[in-house]
Amino acid sequence: MEIKKKLLLMVIDGSTIDIIKNFKEKKRSIFYKFLTEGSSGILKSTIPSQTLPAVPCLYTGKNPAKLGIFAHTDEIGNVINSNHLKSKTLWEILGEHGLSSCIFSAPVTFPPKKINGILVSDLNLPENAAFTYPKELQKEYDFPVGLNETENAKSMKNEDFIIHMKEKTKKKIDIFKDIIKNDDFDFCMYYLIETDTIQHFVWHRKDLLSEYYDLIDGFLREMLERFENILIVSDHGFDDAPTHNFYINSWLEKERYLFMGKIKMINSIIKKIYKLSEFVPDKILVKVRNLLRKNNPDPRKLIPGVDWNRTIAYVDKNYGIWIEKDRCNSEGNSYETVREDIIIKLLNLEFENNKVIKNAYKREEIYNGEFIENVPDILILPEKRFSVMIQLDSGILRKKTKAEAYKGSHDSARDGIILTLGNAFKKQERINADITDITPTILSLYGIGKDKEMDGNVIKSILKGKIKTEQYKENRMLSSAIKNIKF
Ligand SMILES: [Zn+2]
Repeated sequence: MEIKKKLLLMVIDGSTIDIIKNFKEKKRSIFYKFLTEGSSGILKSTIPSQTLPAVPCLYTGKNPAKLGIFAHTDEIGNVINSNHLKSKTLWEILGEHGLSSCIFSAPVTFPPKKINGILVSDLNLPENAAFTYPKELQKEYDFPVGLNETENAKSMKNEDFIIHMKEKTKKKIDIFKDIIKNDDFDFCMYYLIETDTIQHFVWHRKDLLSEYYDLIDGFLREMLERFENILIVSDHGFDDAPTHNFYINSWLEKERYLFMGKIKMINSIIKKIYKLSEFVPDKILVKVRNLLRKNNPDPRKLIPGVDWNRTIAYVDKNYGIWIEKDRCNSEGNSYETVREDIIIKLLNLEFENNKVIKNAYKREEIYNGEFIENVPDILILPEKRFSVMIQLDSGILRKKTKAEAYKGSHDSARDGIILTLGNAFKKQERINADITDITPTILSLYGIGKDKEMDGNVIKSILKGKIKTEQYKENRMLSSAIKNIKF
């Protein structure tokens, strides 16, 4: 085993390089130290750019098509949790090598699994559930985890909401500090989940955002005394909330890839119902949709009014387009031609002289794995001004009619951050990495080579010293052999 390099992985949900760069003026800040003395850059997230599927990729080094996780819920609306995550996580691999971890406030870790160390879950926790490993830890602290802050964000004044969130974060930080005080964990991960909700609702108030980030800065200052190395990442970026809607299924209809039923009057009534549904609260819409999905043999094709006997392409999730392969062939077009034509048309689509779609990919260009068939044939990333809407509409592009509660959004923000500081890392390197690179990179810091199933690569440009390349499975056999030796 190589020399242990104590590392803290700090995940700041939805953080962006622009937010961090604001600290360039605060010369005494720790973020300034990261920017000037460490290495920093962009960490590419997934499509869709959301906590899920991004976080499972961060934990495992694998892409969503290998994990079979693409959103916060599965096809029929079940919330994704640790039981859906079949691949080994970073800390499970470290544990197999006899290394201990403290994983704090981490999404997609519920129900908590056994770990060589301590684990505290967060996000989407059922009421009264056991969310720590070991179980007894839950009684020792009053953990402010698993609480949805959306209602507070909506009802409180921005100023008060920031005060409330700062207090909550301080409480969590204190618990984390207490947990690591007496235990010498080899690896720690602190997942700062609050920033996602804060940025959704307070994105327009950069003064309040920076007040909250000052708190994180102070925490990092303390942590630099405790850890030899700190790696900061975010699961996705963030940007201004969209102001316009792009009705993608209506666009596909106009381009003659999607067809409505033959009776025009019924079609216009259906579109009016869709329009009214924009004023129904999202919570209710989601419930109705999940109910319909559960009772539908083909949950993707839940777009009322569509003539499925003629339709070639359609959208049921706002990050991609499904293509009916067999229909392409029967119409005399090849699947590839249809797909390429749609991509070109999307990339050329403009509204008021602005592009609507930032990028569109064939699914296999960015993903691979046994669940690739569950990925839409075309993956899309909109420009920040536009929300991709699934419902049909009489128009294709228009200004939003409903006042948005969200001031910030990450639908179009695939660029997250990566910042490093410490003796294991090189200084002042520009980083351009992928979210799947984090697990293999951290493993290599502990002298563990990556598994060949991992899609990510070790970010060699930022690491000092020799980099392990052998596969961890061999190492695991070695370490279990060591464990079995009786002295
Ligand atoms: Zn997130």
